[in-house]
Amino acid sequence: MAEKRDYYEVLGVDKNADDAALKKAYRVLAKKYHPDVNPGDKEAEAKFKEASEAYAVLSDPEKRRQYDQFGHAAFEQGGGYGGGMDFSGMDFSDIFGDIFGDIFGGSRRSSRNNGPRKGANIRTSVRMSFEEAVFGCKKQVELVVKDPCPACKGSGAKPGTSPVTCEKCGGKGQVVFTQQSFFGMVQNVQTCPECGGTGKTIKEKCNDCRGTGYVSMKKRYEVEFPAGVDNGQCKRMQGLGEPGINGGPRGDALVEAVVAPHPIFQRQDMNIFSTVPLSYAVAALGGDVIIDTVDGPVAQTIKPGTVTDTQVRLRGKGVPSLRDSRTRGDHYVTLVVQTPVKLSARAKELLKEFDMETGDSLGAVERFRAEKNGTSGNNGDEPKKGRKKKGLFS
Ligand SMILES: [Zn+2]
Ligand SMILES: [Zn+2]
Repeated sequence: MAEKRDYYEVLGVDKNADDAALKKAYRVLAKKYHPDVNPGDKEAEAKFKEASEAYAVLSDPEKRRQYDQFGHAAFEQGGGYGGGMDFSGMDFSDIFGDIFGDIFGGSRRSSRNNGPRKGANIRTSVRMSFEEAVFGCKKQVELVVKDPCPACKGSGAKPGTSPVTCEKCGGKGQVVFTQQSFFGMVQNVQTCPECGGTGKTIKEKCNDCRGTGYVSMKKRYEVEFPAGVDNGQCKRMQGLGEPGINGGPRGDALVEAVVAPHPIFQRQDMNIFSTVPLSYAVAALGGDVIIDTVDGPVAQTIKPGTVTDTQVRLRGKGVPSLRDSRTRGDHYVTLVVQTPVKLSARAKELLKEFDMETGDSLGAVERFRAEKNGTSGNNGDEPKKGRKKKGLFS
C-alpha cells in the first residue's frame, strides 16, 4: 500500500485548523466523493474513505493530540493508546449523524435502518492524582450496563408471548409515504415509527424490562490507565456500551481520565515544570539544592553566580511516553532567587558589611550628591562616617 498521506493534507487544512474548519473541509470532500454520488467509482470511494478517516481522527481531540505527537504510528496495531484504531471495520455512524444528516437532508439511506447497527458508546470519567497519571494506575468505575432481560430473554415480550410482525410496515422496518410538494408528489422512505425499524412489535410487554428487552445494572469494573495518561484522555472498554441494534455489536464505554492539578508540578505533554526557590547565598556561591521530582527529591548542583529564572533540565524525570514507558520526558526547573527577609539584627549588620565590601550600593545616592556638590576629597571608595544616620533626601 502506498504511504499514507498526512491527515491535514488530506483535508486540505493547516495544522491549527479549528473544529469548524475541519468540519467544513470534510463536508466539501464528503459531498464530492460520497459513494452515493459516485456509484461504482473506486477512486472516489478511496478518497471518501481517506477523508473520513482523517476527519474521524482530527475531529476527536484525544486522537488528534496523539496524531500530532506520533503521526500515523499512533494508530498502528499495538501502538498508540486505547488499543489502536481499526479503520477497516470502523463505524462512521457518529460522523454520519453529525455531518451527513444535513448533507442529505436528514434522510439516512434506508438500507441502514433495518440492518445491524453498533450500539452507542457510553462515557464516564474517573479522577486520579497527578502521580497516578504519570505512573499509571488501576481505577474502579461503576458503569450502568444494559443486559438482556432474563425474564423475556431480551425479546421484550411478556414471557409466554412473542413479538409479532409489525402491521404498519409488514415487517420491512420502513414505510413509504407520499408527500405533496412544489414539484409534485414526492415519495419518501422512512423508518417505521411503529416498530422503530425492527419489523416486529410487542403486543404484551415484559414487566421486568417494560418491553425494552434490556435491564440496566450497575457493575463495577477495574480500568487500567497506562503510565503517561493525560487529563481528558479516554480508555476504551470495548463492548461495554449500549447494546447493538438488530443484532449489531455493542458500543464501547469510554472512561475519561480527570487528572487533579498538582500543588507544585505542571505538565505539558511529556514534560513537567516546577519552580524552586534558591537562596541568595547558594545563587551567589553555588552549591547543592534539593529539587522535588515525581521520582522523589533529587540533589542538583547549582553553579556559582546563578541568576534568577535560570532553567535547569532534569533529563528523564518527566512523564513516560504512552507508547513506551521506558521513554520519559524531562523536568524543567526554574530557579527563583529569594530576597532575604525577616533578618535578625546581626544578619542586617552582616549584610551591610557585605554591601560595603561589594561596592556600597546602600551609599550610592549619597555618593552621587557629594559629587554633584563638588565636595571632593572623599569620592566613594572610602565609606563616610555618619552616613547611616542622615535621611537620604534631607
Ligand atoms: Zn423483559
Ligand atoms: Zn414496523
